[in-house]
Amino acid sequence: MEQIGTFGASRYTVRDLQLFRDEYDASVAATLAACAVVRVGRGRRIEDGVRARLYIVLAGQLEVASDTHAGDDGGTIRILPGESVGEQAVLDDAVNLAAITALEDSDLLVIEPDLVSDLIDRSNVLARNLLRLLSFRIRAANALLRRRQKLGEFYRQLSLNDGLTGLYNRAWLNEMLPKLVARSRQEDSPLSLVMIDLDHFKRFNDTHGHLAGDAALEAAANVIRGALRPSDFAVRYGGEEMMAVLPDTSAQLAGVVAERLCRRLRATIVFPDMRLPLPHMTGSFGVASLAPGADEGALVAAADAALYRAKEAGRDRVCL
Ligand code: GH3
Ligand code: MG
Ligand code: MG
Repeated sequence: MEQIGTFGASRYTVRDLQLFRDEYDASVAATLAACAVVRVGRGRRIEDGVRARLYIVLAGQLEVASDTHAGDDGGTIRILPGESVGEQAVLDDAVNLAAITALEDSDLLVIEPDLVSDLIDRSNVLARNLLRLLSFRIRAANALLRRRQKLGEFYRQLSLNDGLTGLYNRAWLNEMLPKLVARSRQEDSPLSLVMIDLDHFKRFNDTHGHLAGDAALEAAANVIRGALRPSDFAVRYGGEEMMAVLPDTSAQLAGVVAERLCRRLRATIVFPDMRLPLPHMTGSFGVASLAPGADEGALVAAADAALYRAKEAGRDRVCL
């Protein structure tokens, strides 16, 4: 960054500066005339050191990468001739931490912080233009934050759902089950789980192929999803193990739900093509309810134990 002269000696005038648009005060022009003009080579960063200064681009263009500046390409904006950068840092007397880089050889008018204050005191036009600019920057920053928030929610959603079945995944369960248990305790309402494991699924894969296995998993997930109330949750627990989480549901009622799931699963044809025999599947179901004083670990273990008994007893059935 090399000083090449003063603003007064340059070919630019106050009219070229957006912040001073509509400013006709000769004393303001005289003050600006004494300010330095520097040249920054293409690709060079503007090192502002500890001083927060206001820069106005006279020629070339700058890129600002910062969280407080918003642009469509993820938080960078371009500063074109006539536009300024550093207003905020000057106003709140903070170091300019944003990375400012020259996208091409650029000439910049540099206004020292003390001078900016002085100019604001003297020029209503500058004060108004600054306010307008800041308001624009705040709006843009808010818009960027909203976009990022939406994106964050999108990825969060993505990370809590299983890719194949669309059911909630284990990460979701780990986060939510303790909360559901706590709520059940607090409200003194029942909480039940149905643990589901598809029967002889290894054989299903071996017989019909892995793709058919995937289709069967999707079909099973649809059966479970379709049979639950809006307040229930369907989770893919692991490979071919799924779980229905039923808040406000007694063990007895959960047993009824599980029987319904068991029947529907048995009746589901994975894909109705001409292949014979049509691939069917069955599942084993373990039902458990939150016991007084028990935690989520004990609840899952109880559902697991019930599932094991259903397997032992011959599969394609429900055990409580
Ligand atoms: P059981 O009745 O005792 O549960 O027998 P099983 O064969 O279902 O049990 P096992 O745990 O031995 O095998 C589970 C099988 O599930 C093995 C695995 O290949 C299959 N599996 C797990 N995840 C997927 C998946 O995402 N897609 C497919 N196609 N198969 C899966
Ligand atoms: Mg299994
Ligand atoms: Mg199985």
